[in-house]
Amino acid sequence: MVAPKVAVVGAGVIGLSTALCIAETCPSCSVTVLSDQFSPNTTSDVAAGMLIPHTYPDTPIHMQKQWFKETFTYLFAISNSAEASEAGIHLVSGWQVFKNTPKEELPFWSNIVLGFRPMSEEELRKFPQHRFGQAFTTLKCDCPPYLLWLEKRLEATGVQMRTRKVADLWELHSEYDVVVNCAGIGAHQLVGDMELFPIRGQVLKVHAPWVKNFIRDGDGLTYIYPGVHSVTLGGTREKDSWNLSPDPGTTKDIFERCCSLEPSLRGAQDIKVKVGLRPSRQSVRLQREVLSQGGVKLPVVHNYGQGAGGFSVHMGTAKEAARLVGECIAALQGSSSRAKL
Ligand code: FAD
Repeated sequence: MVAPKVAVVGAGVIGLSTALCIAETCPSCSVTVLSDQFSPNTTSDVAAGMLIPHTYPDTPIHMQKQWFKETFTYLFAISNSAEASEAGIHLVSGWQVFKNTPKEELPFWSNIVLGFRPMSEEELRKFPQHRFGQAFTTLKCDCPPYLLWLEKRLEATGVQMRTRKVADLWELHSEYDVVVNCAGIGAHQLVGDMELFPIRGQVLKVHAPWVKNFIRDGDGLTYIYPGVHSVTLGGTREKDSWNLSPDPGTTKDIFERCCSLEPSLRGAQDIKVKVGLRPSRQSVRLQREVLSQGGVKLPVVHNYGQGAGGFSVHMGTAKEAARLVGECIAALQGSSSRAKL
């Protein structure tokens, strides 16, 4: 096999980062991204892009920690380079506050973010309804610029990008040697994964340039995340809702909740409302599978189901997916050289 042909289905943060890792680890591969939507029309464009991990109950914690660490290290290097502004990556400091002291005072990611510590009494005075808090510095991606930056990197590496809706992964078997499934919530239909479900999220993007620190209620529902161009105010978590239309009552509720944490937001302007469906599962699906029909085989690598934390783990899961693609190619090369004997 001269140049193995790899198709990556999906152009959200998972598909683009996975295609980049494959192109970098397998320079002899010909990589194509196939997707029915690209930025700015993906779930990844709606996300706040904060690096605060979500926990996947059925994925071992050491793997989640490794994925987060690899992602943090990758983006930290960009934040310290001249690329930072174009890539939309920056450090942001702030507070996670709790009405009651949480069971787990030290989350698994506390030694990966920077300067994690309990908040002082003086800091907590800003939040009279909260009794406990954690201060730390993490990274934030401004999502649409970051996705465009990834697309530019892909083009520079020679990766092709095609608009195409894939109805069945098998339809790619005559054109590609390996297929990588990064379809996000689209995998529900594409591969009939009934363990994958949407968690609807509605957020507001507002102009409030004086807000420089993030504030997150520990319940994960209410948050204020300042980015380069706008501040994201959230949010909602509506399990099994496929509704992509913004709800005006929810917009008002989010705004009021955020103002109770940061009253100066009453002066925010230019409020835009966005809705996205988090591709959620009990565990991220990151595995190899071989599809087979009439003796013909198609190796597939699945990489989807990052739910509420896709930005927080994307480079870690992309590296693992690229390693699995390498295994598929080695197996194909092994079987083609055996066939020649
Ligand atoms: P998507 O971005 O949905 O990409 C899937 C791609 O597959 C799309 O390009 C789609 O067009 C394509 N596709 C699907 N089906 C097909 C098909 N059949 N044929 C061809 N193409 C197909 N995460 C964080 O880490 N931090 C945050 O602060 C954060 N905030 C969030 C806030 C909200 C409101 C929401 C909704 C999510 C948030 N997330 C956050 C989660 C994050 O957005 C997701 O985990 C991430 O975007 C998932 O990326 P993805 O590439 O898997 O999916």
